Amino acid sequence: EKSRIGVTGLAVMGANLARNIASRGVPVAVHNRTYAKTEQFMADYGAEGDFTASESVKDFVDSLETPRKIIVMVKAGKPVDGVIEELTPLLDEGDIIIDAGNSHFPDTVRRTAECEANGLRFMGVGVSGGEEGALLGPSIMPGGDPAAYEEVREIFESIAAVVDGTPCVTHVGPGGAGHYVKMVHNGIEYADIQLIAEAYDLLTNVVGLDAPAVGKIFEEWNTGDLDSFLIEITGKVLAKTDARTGRPLVDVIVDQAGQKGTGTWTAIDALQLGIPLTGITEAVFARGLSALRSERKAAAGVLAGPTPSKEVDESLVEDIRLALYASKVVAYAQGFAQMRAASVENGWDLKLGEMATIWRGGCIIRARFLNRIREAYDEHPDLDNLLMVPYFTEAVANAQDAWRRVIVKATEQGVPIPAFSSSLSYYDGYRRERGPANLIQGLRDFFGAHTYKRIDAEGSFHTRWAQDGTEVEA
Ligand code: NDP
Repeated sequence: EKSRIGVTGLAVMGANLARNIASRGVPVAVHNRTYAKTEQFMADYGAEGDFTASESVKDFVDSLETPRKIIVMVKAGKPVDGVIEELTPLLDEGDIIIDAGNSHFPDTVRRTAECEANGLRFMGVGVSGGEEGALLGPSIMPGGDPAAYEEVREIFESIAAVVDGTPCVTHVGPGGAGHYVKMVHNGIEYADIQLIAEAYDLLTNVVGLDAPAVGKIFEEWNTGDLDSFLIEITGKVLAKTDARTGRPLVDVIVDQAGQKGTGTWTAIDALQLGIPLTGITEAVFARGLSALRSERKAAAGVLAGPTPSKEVDESLVEDIRLALYASKVVAYAQGFAQMRAASVENGWDLKLGEMATIWRGGCIIRARFLNRIREAYDEHPDLDNLLMVPYFTEAVANAQDAWRRVIVKATEQGVPIPAFSSSLSYYDGYRRERGPANLIQGLRDFFGAHTYKRIDAEGSFHTRWAQDGTEVEA
């Protein structure tokens, strides 16, 4: 009997996806470049389901029913191309290659075209939820040919996380749309995490609480509007005591953040689209600054500035919660505006409400809050900005005094809050009917004759700055 679907790449993600699929009673073919890993997989989990293991790619391909459906779960980048190259001559017209790793969406666009040229169908599928999600129910963001998606829809729906009876998977759009949405998901994850880190910094260094006390506050926050996986695990991480020293574990962890690049991709894409994406981009920059540990150490004794008071002021705790919530609303508003712009640019027709729906469970940014976003797009599918729906307009209106107080306090005490403060600047900029870009245009016209528009006349104008100072129509 042939297997219904195959998985190649049996590191944590591939192994757990294969086990998840098999747990639904689906026969799964498994393969890994290094055969020892396949053998180990079979020894550990072979009895869990109907697995067929192969050593060679050819046997793996032959063990699949047609049209073949092959999930590629290998290291993102060149290895994906290598695997596609190996598979291509062994496959038949109409077979489906499903790249479920964290590929960069332009690569997915290219691979889709290459596979199509070879008579194959290609899907770029974002999978979020880490190891545990892959095994128990991830959020899945499939992109590519809709007909190809129909071939795997039932399996995907059966393995995805489920929230209120709805599986966290939907066909996102053609070509690179799935990996694009996964990229923005990861970018939003960066912003969420940065905002949490800033709140932790303030609660520690301004409010003067220790890690376990801050952990309790996050636990409490997780019962309200902020209810989410990341807030929940923040409470757990802060509560953890280090076995070696007896101190809170976070106090012995080096303050340098790593990154694999998806936040940077999101920020670069926003720059190219011309979409203001301050929350995610500041989060990437903050990780970059954290990495300059030895420079920071040298600067700490040289550069002047206030030292945080650590004066316990519990009244600030609620202000910080509100500042975190308002900044989070802005970060999501920006991320969704970016997806909307990309959808228009690429003709993807992304249903933004559905993106919020499939992020409610399984993925790292899962949160109660996403229900509100889904409702917003259900009511207004062509919404320009989430801040403009009453729920979010009011949420931020209610938070903004506290948000401003927190930013003033942090600034006075020298605590950096790039994501909190840039989110507020974005908000203040967005709600401003007339900003200072008139002067920018004046300057551009002065040094480069770039012209400007007038508020009282149609057309473009140039002032002859270096000549007689008169205005001419451009
Ligand atoms: P890794 O990214 O660590 O990749 C290891 C796997 O890739 C192994 O099976 C390895 O085979 C295979 N591989 C590497 N190079 C090649 C090659 N040239 N040809 C064939 N196979 C190769 O595994 P993960 O399970 O962590 O992640 C898989 C994908 O899922 C990645 O794209 C990752 O970004 C993404 N992802 C990971 C998440 C996570 O939490 N880890 C969450 C969501 C997505 P071998 O055993 O022979 O070395």
